[in-house]
Amino acid sequence: MKKIFQPFLARIALFALLISGALHAQSPAQVRIIPGETKFVADGFGVVAAIALDEPSPFRVFTLDDPWRLVVDFPTLDWNGLTPDIVADTPALQALRFGQFTRDWSRLVFDLNQPLALSEVEFDTTTNSLHLRLSPVSASAFAAQAGAPAGVEWQVNTPLDIQGEAGLPIVAIDAGHGGVDPGAIRGYVLEKDLTLVVAQELRTALLATGRYRVAMIRETDTFVSLRDRVRLARAAGAHVLLSLHANTAERGRARGTSVYNLSDEASDAETAAIVEFENRADLLAGIDLDGEEDLIAEILVDMAQRETNLLSENLGAMLSDSLLAVLDSGAKSRHRWAGFRVLKAPDIPSVLLELGFMSTPGDLEDMQSETWRAALNAQIIATLDAWFVQMAETRALMRN
Ligand SMILES: [Zn+2]
Repeated sequence: MKKIFQPFLARIALFALLISGALHAQSPAQVRIIPGETKFVADGFGVVAAIALDEPSPFRVFTLDDPWRLVVDFPTLDWNGLTPDIVADTPALQALRFGQFTRDWSRLVFDLNQPLALSEVEFDTTTNSLHLRLSPVSASAFAAQAGAPAGVEWQVNTPLDIQGEAGLPIVAIDAGHGGVDPGAIRGYVLEKDLTLVVAQELRTALLATGRYRVAMIRETDTFVSLRDRVRLARAAGAHVLLSLHANTAERGRARGTSVYNLSDEASDAETAAIVEFENRADLLAGIDLDGEEDLIAEILVDMAQRETNLLSENLGAMLSDSLLAVLDSGAKSRHRWAGFRVLKAPDIPSVLLELGFMSTPGDLEDMQSETWRAALNAQIIATLDAWFVQMAETRALMRN
């Protein structure tokens, strides 16, 4: 069987599962990508691509605008051997990310240096490869064609498992990034791996106190959109949300931790760069944010959310103070403000913690040290203990 979708059909036909029923009839073994036969070749100002698999697979492919991206999805793939530099010789393709996207789907996201439309999409079942041709178009023509096909499910995450004894306060632990979104990268160290390790250890430490329940936003190397992180924490009835991240600095040797609260404006230029990086997670993962309103300003003026904001501020200040205890001399414990999308739950006090600078050897060493992380987690827990006492008092005052 050989199917060719002509350009005029591309937009409506691309989402079709090529082999009907294959998604559910798959054998337990994952379909494997064959890196040696996967190729991206410049073709004039366009690109010809072949993504080779070891057996036929359903797929979907589409483009997204602002910034220009190409998204290719397959049911969960084995990526072994594939590296992002496979697009290095194709100037029109600026970067490639790939990884798990939802429970059932894997994703490749290509950043495009120029507007390129899908002019040919063909799955060749004799070679088990997906052939794509990308041709230059005007920015306006690209925008007109871009968009995820109807029916693409973005929110397929199941409700969070809540661990610990019923009745205890619930701490939602949000390990930043994951799956197709690696976060910051320093050599072989990925932010998404660091944050997951810290999250898992913090969970163990919190549960060991017998004073908290824990809801993990993610427990594996999978992608969760920023909007979904907030939604999952709210659905779990979390009393507080801690979002864990690790920084990189382009210049200098900044050291230490930073605790962030929500604000409609970044408190300084460095924070503005960080919030831009963290809020790009969904864009990098090929999420279509079209139509998603920026509600931060509204959230901040809403009376119902003032209490949440005050409690978040208290937690941010307390955490920032207490983290000084785990830092070397010369390192800073910063408390700052910006419009982080993951902090937007109107009813859950939330803070985002940047554990250190992956770009600074001392910080990176700390974050990779189990001893340092144990000390960090002890400070986080001591802060939560104190904050929950203060929260009860604050709430009582505000409601009287
Ligand atoms: Zn991050």
